Amino acid sequence: MKKKLLTCIAVICAVALVAVIVADFFLNKNTAASFIAMNTTVSLDITGFSCEKAAGRIKSEIVKLDEKLLSRTNSESEIYAVNSGKTEVSDELAKILTDLKQIEKDSNGAFCAGIGALSDLWGIGTDKAKVPSQAEIDAAIKNADKWSIDGNTVYIPDGVKLDMGAVGKGIACDYADEILTDFLSDDIIDLRESIITVGGSVKLDKFGSGPNAAFNIGIRDPLGEVNEHCAVLNIAPGCISTSGNYERFFEDENGKRYHHIFDPSTGCPADSGLLSVTVDAQYGYVSDALSTACFVLGIEKSLPLLEKYNADAVFITTDKEIITTYGDTESNLISITNDEYRLGELK
Ligand code: AMP
Ligand code: MG
Repeated sequence: MKKKLLTCIAVICAVALVAVIVADFFLNKNTAASFIAMNTTVSLDITGFSCEKAAGRIKSEIVKLDEKLLSRTNSESEIYAVNSGKTEVSDELAKILTDLKQIEKDSNGAFCAGIGALSDLWGIGTDKAKVPSQAEIDAAIKNADKWSIDGNTVYIPDGVKLDMGAVGKGIACDYADEILTDFLSDDIIDLRESIITVGGSVKLDKFGSGPNAAFNIGIRDPLGEVNEHCAVLNIAPGCISTSGNYERFFEDENGKRYHHIFDPSTGCPADSGLLSVTVDAQYGYVSDALSTACFVLGIEKSLPLLEKYNADAVFITTDKEIITTYGDTESNLISITNDEYRLGELK
């Protein structure tokens, strides 16, 4: 009898062990996919039982977001239609434009979604890049901030074009996040961790690991090659976006560099003493819009904007100082990995 009981216990233990091993195998399942959308590389690195299904759905949603909603050049997108005279927009686009108008106001116009005509004029990143005349610049920025949205009705003055280039990648991260959250509520065995990279925006998630879960993320060396970083951030889940003068630019015959982030008050590439700004916020559309705005504003004028959106930033200055807004208690969040750079103080 005793022998039978022991055999029974041993069988139960063996079955439980196999179950734990199998469950752990599935929970640690990982998928890494990458594809091109929004004129950039999108990488999906997802760990957990439903990782492949989640990656498939995220891919199709991001492609759809680009082609059907935000693209300025695809004639099937809603932004294209708005730039061609359409005035009534979907609820989805109305929400995005309403949020962006608010960021325009809060950044005193440093972020300006109506900058499309100016982007077209400079053509940076295309084979038609040129330094325009002052008269052309003046005409392109004249009414850039005069577009408006009221409910689902959008008003675009003549000559103005909306450009989602500064926020599309962050919005894509938010869409990915929504899909992952759906999977969490649907599945019994679900996801563990995800890193969604859309160009310069990265959405980091850890599921069920508690508030201390953190990621190490490299910040690109603005003066180095694509895969070189100058600092590593140790941060909690959220979304980080980087705007830098190295992303898209052209040089004139004298070697002067013109990059793609414009100061809407001058119509020229922003010159605020920065090489790059990385913003860390809860939502991708916020981190992406604010990284562009902060690049234009420079360090000091960015601080109230960051505070309003409960965001932090890492500024890299033209004299190779790295300055963060993370508080004293969190100062271990950043470590310099290239000794040409030094940590500077926020004044
Ligand atoms: P990002 O790399 O996120 O800073 O976005 C840069 C892109 O946003 C540019 O290629 C333009 O399409 C657009 N852009 C440039 N300057 C601004 C600005 N001040 N406000 C909004 N969008 C901008
Ligand atoms: Mg941006």
